[in-house]
Amino acid sequence: MIQELYFDVTVIGAGPAGLAAALASDHEGAKTLLIEREARLGGILKQCIHDGFGLVRFGEKLSGPEYAERFIEQLPDSHVEVWTLSFVSEIKREKNESLLTVITREGMKRIRTRSLILATGCRERTSRQIGVHGRHCAGVLTAGTAQYYTNILGKLPTKRCVILGSGDIGLIMARRLTLEGAKVVGVYEAKPTPSGLMRNVSQCLWDFDIPLQVSKTVTRVIGDARLTAVEIASVDACMCPIKGTEEIIPCDALILSVGLIPENELAESIGVPIDFKTKGAVVDERNETLLRGVFACGNALHVNDLVDYVSESGEVAGKAAASPTNRSRGLVPVECDQSLLYVVPQRLCRNSEEMERVFFFRSARDMDNATLTVAKGEQVLFTKKFAHLRPPEMERIPITLSKKELDGNLPLRFHLEE
Ligand SMILES: Cc1cc2nc3c(=O)[nH]c(=O)nc-3n(C[C@H](O)[C@H](O)[C@H](O)COP(=O)(O)OP(=O)(O)OC[C@H]3O[C@@H](n4cnc5c(N)ncnc54)[C@H](O)[C@@H]3O)c2cc1C
Repeated sequence: MIQELYFDVTVIGAGPAGLAAALASDHEGAKTLLIEREARLGGILKQCIHDGFGLVRFGEKLSGPEYAERFIEQLPDSHVEVWTLSFVSEIKREKNESLLTVITREGMKRIRTRSLILATGCRERTSRQIGVHGRHCAGVLTAGTAQYYTNILGKLPTKRCVILGSGDIGLIMARRLTLEGAKVVGVYEAKPTPSGLMRNVSQCLWDFDIPLQVSKTVTRVIGDARLTAVEIASVDACMCPIKGTEEIIPCDALILSVGLIPENELAESIGVPIDFKTKGAVVDERNETLLRGVFACGNALHVNDLVDYVSESGEVAGKAAASPTNRSRGLVPVECDQSLLYVVPQRLCRNSEEMERVFFFRSARDMDNATLTVAKGEQVLFTKKFAHLRPPEMERIPITLSKKELDGNLPLRFHLEE
């Protein structure tokens, strides 16, 4: 007979989002369970041994493990029940509650929970997802895997590598591998501008004389058992390789930093509607999805560039999940045009008592002297000027909106103009 346990709030994933969510839920007095599949808490922060975390929240430059520790150390003083080495393999919905199947070291367990928080993080795009051709040889790995080998296992995965994609993890690994004695031949980016934060381009590449080659991509991997070289080519404005520009670069590893995708298999399995722009759940300002009692936060909701905002989104979800309401939300859609990549939340509760709502957005392209306009039909509700906007840099913006301004069925529309 499989044991069934009840919790008011269950959080899946103990990265910074899940840790903050569980502590916030406990703080509100809810009986809270935190489930993590790995042996240690902290999520991806465990392997991020460089500093730069926590500047917004703590005004300090912490390493990933130090940042995670600020939350982990609060757990013994809380009532949060923590299960590590426990994997949520299935979720079912029953009468507005969620039923979880959890594989633990003691065997399979069933959890019935009133509120469920999905804090499952994100995963990296692989070579197959970006159409890199060639043999399945050893030596093609994601930047996160290279980070895990180097920082957790203490094993250097390459002596001479090419990094494809200029996402933040790739930039950080270019520096890390260089410090460990590997040769990073260059970072190659198909777009005309880098995908990562400018502070990382400066601190991780320029400070170490690592070349950044934009408008170039890897067209082929070469090698039998192990990678021996990659073929690089320039690309045109449509990112198609230009014939005749190919060059072969000898190396023993191709490290990919080509994007992160929110981890949402569990959410999709219970029918949580997903935003095709963020690849995360559609949520209201309390981070509740369109399925009542199911919340999402952190990188499972949308890929964040600052961990401080990840923790904030966990806290919002944890607080809301601990005090659920059956009252109709009166949801108002929030939309953006092509000048933005996305905006979160994608819905607002018309019936909420809170007037200040926090939005996160990214511009669709680099912009100088841009004005953000938030309008409802013809009525402009909010404007703000930005000196610079870049897609890799997510913007956080609180906007005060009255109940009257949210009346009616028209969506709120976000627009940017240079
Ligand atoms: C490889 C990698 C490296 C990164 N490096 C940096 C960096 O250097 N600097 C930076 O600012 N940001 C970095 N990021 C971004 C980073 O993900 C966020 O800053 C932050 O850690 C996200 O927090 P999270 O809690 O949403 O997700 P995570 O930290 O990814 O935590 C999610 C947790 O959920 C658990 N989980 C998932 N599914 C299940 C399940 N079914 N059952 C039980 N547990 C489950 C996972 O094991 C994990 O512990 C990196 C991301 C990745 C993927």
